Amino acid sequence: MPSDLPRSIPATPEAVVDPSAVDVIVIGGGHAGVEAAAAAARVGARTVLVTHAFATIGAMSCNPAIGGIGKGTLVREVDALDGLMARAIDRSGIQFRVLNASRGPAVHGPRAQADRRLYAAAMQDLVAGTAGLRVVEGAVDDLIVAEEGTGPRVAGVVLADGRRIRAAAVVLTTGTFLRGMIHIGDQRIPAGRVGEAPAAALGARLEALGLPMGRLKTGTPPRLDGRTIDWAALAEQHGDTPPKPFSVLTDRITVPQIACHITATTPAAHQVIRDHLHESAVYSGRIAGRGPRYCPSIEDKVVRFADRDSHQIFLEPEGLDDHTVYPNGISTSLSAEAQARMLRHIPGLERVSIIRPGYAIEYDFVDPRSLLPTLESRVMPGLYMAGQINGTTGYEEAAAQGVLAGANAALAAGEAGGDRRQGTRLLPDRGRSLTGVMIDDLTTRGADEPYRMFTSRAEYRLLLRADNADLRLTAEAMALGLVGAERRVAHEAKLAALDEARGLARSLTLTPEQARSHGIPANRDGRPRTLHQLLVHAEATRPVMTAIWPELARIRADVYEQIEIEARYDGYLGRQEADVSAWRREGGLAIPDGFDYGRVGGLSAEMQEKLNRSRPATIAAAQAIPGVTPAALSLVIGAIRRGA
Ligand code: FAD
Repeated sequence: MPSDLPRSIPATPEAVVDPSAVDVIVIGGGHAGVEAAAAAARVGARTVLVTHAFATIGAMSCNPAIGGIGKGTLVREVDALDGLMARAIDRSGIQFRVLNASRGPAVHGPRAQADRRLYAAAMQDLVAGTAGLRVVEGAVDDLIVAEEGTGPRVAGVVLADGRRIRAAAVVLTTGTFLRGMIHIGDQRIPAGRVGEAPAAALGARLEALGLPMGRLKTGTPPRLDGRTIDWAALAEQHGDTPPKPFSVLTDRITVPQIACHITATTPAAHQVIRDHLHESAVYSGRIAGRGPRYCPSIEDKVVRFADRDSHQIFLEPEGLDDHTVYPNGISTSLSAEAQARMLRHIPGLERVSIIRPGYAIEYDFVDPRSLLPTLESRVMPGLYMAGQINGTTGYEEAAAQGVLAGANAALAAGEAGGDRRQGTRLLPDRGRSLTGVMIDDLTTRGADEPYRMFTSRAEYRLLLRADNADLRLTAEAMALGLVGAERRVAHEAKLAALDEARGLARSLTLTPEQARSHGIPANRDGRPRTLHQLLVHAEATRPVMTAIWPELARIRADVYEQIEIEARYDGYLGRQEADVSAWRREGGLAIPDGFDYGRVGGLSAEMQEKLNRSRPATIAAAQAIPGVTPAALSLVIGAIRRGA
């Protein structure tokens, strides 16, 4: 597709952008929207990102941090698909730490705290530098819906000032803005985020179009003035040295690194919370939407874990030149006065000033069971959705969905223009990525509370690690045209280096006696041991092995890490790969879109009705529908295999 976008979208209200000049429109420049827009542009679509303000691109609504357990793996997957998030945090991270580093690699959680301003600046820079992507400032109030032979289909957007932009596909990533309502004690403020207007008209329009909608809520803690915190009284927490970048394209982190501090709530602080519980928007019943069970407010923690008299709080600076501090662990919707009173009973915060009180926010989401695995709406073809609007919470979850929705919207839009990649879509399944696990969970089970990624959600988590995201995903992304030249070259170089290192691991050998002479245990059975076999032992550290074979010094750190993990988990990895193959043979079998259950001989009317209502995309998804029996599934499998 040629990159012949107009130099600017006309600002006059009645102006209509030439429909032939835009392939994909993305609504919302949050964490999902930027990835969707950049992915669509990388695939070659002429893309327009419509967002309220360019200056809020890369804004972190809540905690100034990227990654964590499960979430860090999602960031690496976004990077493997040539997304932006990992590069943005590498340019702005002020403390990098691999969580769970002492445990197995399947649960390692790379995380970095960000300088909030540097992160937004880095993201804005990456967006501005993406070829084929234009940003239009404005609020989308309506969707253009065209009637086609097959029914209604989204064909563009209408902005609040009357501008209309047409495109073959639209990606909706409005975050917490759809009919957003902030609650602080008994105060209610219509907003998408503090200080920003909600998207009210669009929420009502989506409902009128028949999209199944619901309400969810989330919350954020008060922001504190670091100059009024008694730092000397608190324990320090440092990051890893040297800091390990998120992106395979980053050589090293050059941003100065800082320490965080740790404090904790006290019984006296808990008493203040109990005394003011009736003022909390959530506990007084003023909020109906469900909140994230895994990221509870401090009110929730005090009520749910009544036997605990203390909860940890990480005091995270929001930037290098910013005295704002984010107290991680005490999100709240108590009144501002009650928040101030509670903080006075927390060590180090006795005299703290609040810059901005914490709040809860309630917003509309669209039931993700109404989406195909491509993240296209089943109700409104041409409309894709990603991020918080699909019932998830978190920047990383939003970003991963964004890449997928943007790439698929662009591939579909390309087909309308005769693109040669007909029928191809980005569909990483549960056996290949945490992104696939999340999308499968959302589209088959829905979200009755804000959905957050955990490694425990993945059946094959030993395969779906943070360290091998590129090996799992980059080749497919390259085949779809989603990867730029820099990453393609870097990836090919890494694969060549890995090949060579694997060859060495299988060919270098020691006798048992030689191994024992270097402190590596080996039975005296006379059989030589390969490097691959020796690496199973904790004693076979890199310095020990390099002293034996100096040529190992040449292997890059990330490649050496791979051959170590492959050796240590050899048997387990093989077993999980066999499990994935078995699952793909049965559960992963795709059910063609529009499959006619009425033609499956022997399938009861009840089963037909259940399957028709959910329209699962795979046998595994059909299996997750309550009441669908194994017998019914085998009839469906048989019919698909026979091409019915
Ligand atoms: P957002 O980042 O919200 O971005 C939406 C974008 O769309 C914005 O740029 C907005 O301007 C734009 N937009 C919206 N409507 C329109 C329109 N009609 N026209 C044009 N532009 C539009 N996550 C956690 O993991 N843990 C937490 O504890 C947590 N707490 C949170 C607390 C609060 C108060 C909030 C607001 C969010 C919290 N989050 C938390 C969630 C996290 O911020 C989101 O999950 C993430 O930002 C979602 O990304 P997104 O791209 O879907 O939406």
